[in-house]
Amino acid sequence: MPKANSAVFACPLCGLHYYTKEWAERCHAWCAEHNSCSMEITSHSAERSSVRSESG
Ligand SMILES: [Zn+2]
Repeated sequence: MPKANSAVFACPLCGLHYYTKEWAERCHAWCAEHNSCSMEITSHSAERSSVRSESG
């Protein structure tokens, strides 16, 4: 049985996880091309997007 909630896609190069396959593929493509991560892309990762809404 597939777990709907924990379905994430990992970038095989940097290891970050994404909730959509599109972002994981984008990250993979970027990582392969630039050997580093794009801030804009990683901001969509599960690791980054788990930030809490604390102002300040
Ligand atoms: Zn990556």
